Amino acid sequence: MLLPHNHLEPAFQIQPSVEEPPMNERILISGASIAGLTLAHWLARHGFRPTIVERAPRLRTGGNGVDIRDDSATVIERMGLTPRVRELAADVHGMKFVDAAGRAVARIDTRGAGSVEIMRGDLVALLHEATDAEIIFGDSISAIEQDDDGVTVAFEHAPARRFDLVIGADGMHSNLRRLAFGPEERFIRHKDHYFAFGNADAALGEDRWVTMFNTPGKMTGIYRSGNHDQAKAYFIFRSGPLDHDHRDTAEHRRLLGEAFADQTWAPTQALLDSALADPDLYFDALGQVHMDSWSNGRVALVGDAAWCASPASGAGAELAIVGAYRLAGELAAANGDHQVAFARYDAVQRPLVDKKQQIGPNVGLMVPKTGGGRCVRDALVRLSVMKVAGAVERHIQTHTARPLPDYHRAA
Ligand SMILES: Cc1cc2nc3c(=O)[nH]c(=O)nc-3n(C[C@H](O)[C@H](O)[C@H](O)COP(=O)(O)OP(=O)(O)OC[C@H]3O[C@@H](n4cnc5c(N)ncnc54)[C@H](O)[C@@H]3O)c2cc1C
Repeated sequence: MLLPHNHLEPAFQIQPSVEEPPMNERILISGASIAGLTLAHWLARHGFRPTIVERAPRLRTGGNGVDIRDDSATVIERMGLTPRVRELAADVHGMKFVDAAGRAVARIDTRGAGSVEIMRGDLVALLHEATDAEIIFGDSISAIEQDDDGVTVAFEHAPARRFDLVIGADGMHSNLRRLAFGPEERFIRHKDHYFAFGNADAALGEDRWVTMFNTPGKMTGIYRSGNHDQAKAYFIFRSGPLDHDHRDTAEHRRLLGEAFADQTWAPTQALLDSALADPDLYFDALGQVHMDSWSNGRVALVGDAAWCASPASGAGAELAIVGAYRLAGELAAANGDHQVAFARYDAVQRPLVDKKQQIGPNVGLMVPKTGGGRCVRDALVRLSVMKVAGAVERHIQTHTARPLPDYHRAA
């Protein structure tokens, strides 16, 4: 899909409310990525005062292309960012599956497939430019204490501060979720695969195509956008939970190197070398977060922290953008009353999350378990069955979707 034409607001213009401040004006957000930056933008527009704390020393701009579609395209339009997203959109024609000799055995042309792809790093940078909030880099919340009037927040480095509300937008392994809801083992479901994304030499991939090579339970890929010098390598392998610390990057490199040491596709070693040398290499389990409630008193969660659907959903950015918009909007509509707003946010966002967490077919497509499964996948691709199925799903969705509310502050 092409994004809706933006003729409403000039890019990056933030118009804070001129009314009286709402209840619960001071809001701390943990995590400066897609969910946290979008949330801060909308909170500021509704008259709240957001502050973001980000553990990394700067914005994390790694990752492949992510999709902006449906309601997330509407949110981007309402942020005035559509022209910039169009300018920066990845120039990719589709996916192709190759054999060990590098010959394409099947292709899916994804042009006109109902979304705009943009490199994750470009999107994060764009959202940052559009966000008028204090951002504290290189720090993390170490403790929170809630009372009737607010939350006292201690940081690893900065002095403690008071906020009215605290929102966790700090990803699948959310620190705030651990502090306010309990250990992550209660919420993360392992989905039998690991994912890695890292930089790659563009010469290794076909221009404007995502090239993928499979052996049973493994996939090596290269994402080569026509308008980016830097390509992205990505890797998926099937495995039960591995005993490792999700923050130990040396361990990530070792596990990834070992998993792909046996591969026969010629570019694999070069792709591995460049990905392993990338300081922002992303390596994580294909996990999903499932929670009965996304709030606890004055604390709430958004994005992967609340409902990670995993990169295999292709919907992480979409869910984060729409969820952040709705959370800010419900707070505005309730004039800052967090009890009302958090309950409504949960009710309106949950159906979309439940749908996008159904990732079984996507994983089967990208990483067939057996050689036979790969042949069936390639045959289905050649018959365009997947393209037709995608078009039918989009048609149903367009005709059943409820319009995204245009939130305003309660009087
Ligand atoms: C480097 C990177 C690369 C990625 N690449 C891809 C990709 O190629 N394809 C894909 O589908 N998805 C990718 N993802 C995941 C994708 O961004 C999310 O699924 C989705 O967009 C939801 O975004 P989010 O803002 O909820 O979470 P995330 O994008 O995961 O962001 C969480 C943010 O919180 C920060 N954070 C973590 N711990 C703390 C803490 N203790 N205190 C403060 N801040 C903290 C992180 O540094 C990060 O900036 C990537 C994520 C990262 C971080």
